[in-house]
Amino acid sequence: MLFRQLFDPVSCTYTYLLADASTRRGLLIDTVFEQFDRDRALVHELGVTLTHTLETHVHADHVTAAWRFHRALGSKSVLSRRSGATGADVYVDDGDVIEAGTATLIVRSTPGHTDGCVTYVTRDLRMAFTGDALLIRSAGRTDFQQGSAHELYRSIKERIFTLPDECLLYPAHDYAGRTVTTVGEEKRWNPRIGGEASESDFTGYMDNLGLPHPKQIDVAVPANLVCGKRETTARADGPTWGPVVHTFSGVNEIDPVWVSEHRAAVTILDVREPVELGGDLGRVEGSIHIPLGELRARVAEVPRDKPIVCVCRSGRRSAQACAILEKAGVQDVANSAGGMLRWRALGL
Ligand code: FE
Repeated sequence: MLFRQLFDPVSCTYTYLLADASTRRGLLIDTVFEQFDRDRALVHELGVTLTHTLETHVHADHVTAAWRFHRALGSKSVLSRRSGATGADVYVDDGDVIEAGTATLIVRSTPGHTDGCVTYVTRDLRMAFTGDALLIRSAGRTDFQQGSAHELYRSIKERIFTLPDECLLYPAHDYAGRTVTTVGEEKRWNPRIGGEASESDFTGYMDNLGLPHPKQIDVAVPANLVCGKRETTARADGPTWGPVVHTFSGVNEIDPVWVSEHRAAVTILDVREPVELGGDLGRVEGSIHIPLGELRARVAEVPRDKPIVCVCRSGRRSAQACAILEKAGVQDVANSAGGMLRWRALGL
């Protein structure tokens, strides 16, 4: 099975990609609206066909990217029937199965943090995605969104701690840099519910956390109750001026064939050194030239009337040029994938 753990530093959310290594069919758990480009790029670069995006619950601290993935890739959004949300493609109950070959997940209902919290468990019981029910050495708060410490106690004890001790547990968040735990570890070391903690010990602890109201709750909960669906904003899914691909490394890239066919619609900025321009690779007719090392100081010389396509020998320096231009406020900018090497190899 293919497995990746991704992190959103703003909300401290973990997003998980699971896919069958041979069929490449896969799914994402707990996506984040603002990380859509990053995660879509990873899905693309790993050759995964995304069939589902799953939520462990209706989040109060970030908005899901489920709807963006549905719109871009046709994946089905999955949410618990008890969540009270509308607009999901699939509603699940305890015992339901989300089929994805070796990445197939089985739903365990684990309410308490919210009514609709579920834990997704792999068929071999080696991995479980606990959402906010059980966190690493912690547990999801129970003081809003239909929370109940009594219900959460039973969920953890009866539905999570009954998994094998060596089962790896992946939570929806961590605020201290921890990435994974196991059932055995949490049974022993979880300060809220591990060891000899009784139900009244747990509820006493949970009822006295005194946490501040979540910053994003007034935005996130209503948005997540409609699976992250938003009225379309112009740039919701990235640039519209050309087939720009946002890579996992964070660069906007564009296919050189498209660039050569739409030569008049863009400005080509060549950032190689002057000596390189007379070399074997030649240069694209009509391109403007500012060496990368001078670009920061000469950024005002870059015309803004058309989208900018940056080019260099192999596409590395020009990726840096894109970053410099974006920082300077140029919105429509992309890197010519593979640089002049690719341009020449394609006979452009
Ligand atoms: Fe939560």
